[in-house]
Amino acid sequence: MLRHDAVPKEQRNGEMSEAAPAIADTLQRPLRDLRISVTDRCNLRCTYCMPREMFGKDHVFLPRAELLSFEEIARLARSFIALGVHKIRLTGGEPLLRRDIEQLIALLSRLSTPAGKPVEVTLTTNAVLLAAKAQALKDAGLSRISVSLDGLSDETFKRMSDSAVPVKTVLDGIAAAQRAGFAAIKVNMVVQRGVNDHEIIPMAAHFRAENLSGRGIVLRFIEYMDVGNTNGWRMDEVVTAQEILERLASHYPIRSIDPNYTGEVAERWSYADGSGEIGVIASITRAFCRDCTRARLSTDGKLYTCLFATNGLDLRTPLRAGASSGDLTALIADRWQQRNDRYSQLRSAATESITTTSPKKIEMSYIGG
Ligand code: SAM
Repeated sequence: MLRHDAVPKEQRNGEMSEAAPAIADTLQRPLRDLRISVTDRCNLRCTYCMPREMFGKDHVFLPRAELLSFEEIARLARSFIALGVHKIRLTGGEPLLRRDIEQLIALLSRLSTPAGKPVEVTLTTNAVLLAAKAQALKDAGLSRISVSLDGLSDETFKRMSDSAVPVKTVLDGIAAAQRAGFAAIKVNMVVQRGVNDHEIIPMAAHFRAENLSGRGIVLRFIEYMDVGNTNGWRMDEVVTAQEILERLASHYPIRSIDPNYTGEVAERWSYADGSGEIGVIASITRAFCRDCTRARLSTDGKLYTCLFATNGLDLRTPLRAGASSGDLTALIADRWQQRNDRYSQLRSAATESITTTSPKKIEMSYIGG
């Protein structure tokens, strides 16, 4: 049953007055960000995310009819925005594999918050197709881009991504994005002990401003996480944010800087010599559930309130059955107001007991990283 009373009156029918309070979950966390997975397919097979043994030739990806269409995504996005979302990140799978993705970006970048501010539309990509797409993405209204890259040497990249793609393809994609006018591009590197931790310093050196004609790129190191069920995650493969910072500090003096906003996932550091900024995302050792304001929409239209969730709320069925915008907004609000998940904090309290045999989680390629 749809519960309209779950939504403050001003927010029904997909609208919210400036004065209306943003909805909050049971831990008083507002809804601010939406990650949308636009495809469950990827052109890489990163061993920690979509290992080929599980996502090989026989893997059945979602059939086209099950994917939300761009119009359906935009309709749902409007409901999320009415409830407080002001930033949307497109992800996957590999979002640049979704045909005509720039058309979705154009639809979403036209949306504004109830207070009349434009919604920020961002995208995370492995950049394999970025060189060809960067200008079209910019022209469609994309605000920012994050690129995932786990090493600079072809050998490391091949090992991590289980593909024959050379690192140069990714670097060319980043350069094309810079030429297209994207400012503040971020590069995210997942660090896995014994696999690519020897690339921490070379990656830092490469993306420092001094090496890129002053156009430094913010490199963010991500602790390897126990997402999904397929990567065989083990705590001893996690290089902690603390250790990453110590290794960096032994090469380059760095100092801590303030977050850009409350709830920012990365802890920010700058090079003391002015050569730019780096970040660490300590999802394992300094869990940030307390400030988590993110909802996730899967490729087939399910709402998840945590990356580590086991169940999502199906929004596609009511959407295709003719639910009004008010009905959809009410469903989302109701689920958010019941939200009490804080998986990473609980995991931190019991890291030793979390193994890949813990309850079945959702794969990141489906829910969106
Ligand atoms: N294909 C796009 C990309 O490469 O950015 C978007 C999807 S990908 C799932 C999003 C991010 O999740 C990537 O930066 C990837 O490295 C990260 N990721 C995937 N599995 C992870 C894990 N087990 N631990 C930490 N980060 C992970």
